[in-house]
Amino acid sequence: MARLLKKVIEDCKIYTLFLDHGEWFTISFMDYDDFHLTKEGARALDREDALRSFRREFCFPSSCEAYFAGHSLGLRPRQTEEFVGEELEAWAKMGVKGHFAPKSHWFSYHESAAPPLARLVGAKEREVVAMNSLTVNLHLMLVSFYRPTRKRYKILIENNSFPSDKYAVDSQARFHGFDPKEAIIELKADRGITVSWESMMETMDEHGDSLALVMLGNCNYLSGQCFDMEKMASRAKSCGAFVGFNLAHGAGNLKLDLHKWGVDFAVWCSYKYLNSGPGGIAGAFIHENHHTDPHIPRFEGWWGSDKKTRFAMGPNFSPSAGAEAWQLSNPAIFQLAALRSSLDLFDRAGMEKIAIKRDRLTLYLEALLQKLCPGRYEIMTPPWKEGGQMRGGMLCLRFREGAQKIEKKLSDEGIIVDFRPPDIIRIAMAPLYNNHEDVFQLVEALSGPT
Ligand SMILES: *Cc1c(COP(=O)(O)O)cnc(C)c1O
Repeated sequence: MARLLKKVIEDCKIYTLFLDHGEWFTISFMDYDDFHLTKEGARALDREDALRSFRREFCFPSSCEAYFAGHSLGLRPRQTEEFVGEELEAWAKMGVKGHFAPKSHWFSYHESAAPPLARLVGAKEREVVAMNSLTVNLHLMLVSFYRPTRKRYKILIENNSFPSDKYAVDSQARFHGFDPKEAIIELKADRGITVSWESMMETMDEHGDSLALVMLGNCNYLSGQCFDMEKMASRAKSCGAFVGFNLAHGAGNLKLDLHKWGVDFAVWCSYKYLNSGPGGIAGAFIHENHHTDPHIPRFEGWWGSDKKTRFAMGPNFSPSAGAEAWQLSNPAIFQLAALRSSLDLFDRAGMEKIAIKRDRLTLYLEALLQKLCPGRYEIMTPPWKEGGQMRGGMLCLRFREGAQKIEKKLSDEGIIVDFRPPDIIRIAMAPLYNNHEDVFQLVEALSGPT
């Protein structure tokens, strides 16, 4: 039995800390008093929310009461219309001259996304670039960082990896003449659908000598589990492998420090937590250690060439400095404009505050579920843990029965969540536009008859 050690109340965060098998973990639901677990209480918590004004910056779909699918497609920021509209206008008025017109300047337009992206993922500006779409970027990174030899040819991925990631690594292994059944190693779930650190380390020990690359989705798209990226990076390095992350569910959700953690590469999409719109432009991080390393190969295109000579149209590729050298094509300006609009909001709010609110909302969800519908579901996502990122803003609930019907009922009531057959419902908190009252509405609907 876990041992109650202390209760901490600080800055409206209410924690009860337990010690279990030498590890801290936190239970908070016991700490919300009865008032907090009412609609009025939810509203009171929202009044203390430092980010409450950001909700007004988003468009909510008509007849939507509460939106918890930000991990799938984030809501549209209102100002995106203005950001994209400016470029449409520039195109209409200037045609080809828009490439070098002082205001639009599409020639260097992608550069304006680098500073906010760098702040978002904890990188140097020259280590990040907005380009392509996610799976394309993953393949481009695999070209650079998966160069198998007869001895070192394996890629370690998560269990329940997102299908596109699995297809990408399988096809890369085959491309290099390896059988994916031998080359692709999946972590083994040993806690429901999540993986313990011990089990991860066992797998690393077992395959370390033949491991070329560790490539994990963080958070895992299904379970919501987060991996300790810094520890993982150093463990992968110690066995001589590269380490990369797919941050489709991490960018805009987790506090990241990619440069400091020594991650070799990362890729992400921007239409989930980053609200850049369906099919929005993706991002990539390449650690500066690799920028000028002649042993790191790269697929090349004209937009990766040095901008000083790009329009000289010469036959030889001279790379741009930094991550920009991985660009292939001139980027989609309207998508970049939409991304800039969203990044502007992230910059104004700051990941620090976003992460605190994210944790409050997930803990509040747990507290309410426990009170209003105990016993009907199991939370598959690891518990929140002080100081450790074991999860982000998404909780994965496995329902004992009727998950599909429950999702339908919620949807009929204007509450948008995400159903994964056969029994999983994923609920994501986007701290810029979700609040406690949303969570209350969700759980109230969940607690009623299906
Ligand atoms: C959403 C998601 C994708 C989607 O890939 P696209 O190339 O953007 O279509 C890939 N991988 C993971 C882990 C995802 O969560």
